[in-house]
Amino acid sequence: MLYTVDLTKIDGDGAFPCPKCEAIISPDDETEEIYQIVDTKVEGDNLAELTIVCNKCGSTIRLVGFLLEV
Ligand SMILES: [Zn+2]
Repeated sequence: MLYTVDLTKIDGDGAFPCPKCEAIISPDDETEEIYQIVDTKVEGDNLAELTIVCNKCGSTIRLVGFLLEV
C-alpha cells in the first residue's frame, strides 16, 4: 500500500502515526528501527518529498509538504 502524509497538517515535532499500523514515525529517529528512507526528492536546495517504508507493516509512505514548513 502507498500512503501520502502531508507534513503541513501535522502538529508538533513532525512525528505521526503510520496510516496503517499506527507505529509512531518520528523524523528525529535515525535508528531505522521503525522506518527506512527509500527515496528522496529534492527541489533546489530543499527537500521536497521523502518516501519511507514502515518496518512494522511494510507500508510505503510518501511524505510531502516539506517546502511549506520553511
Ligand atoms: Zn506501519
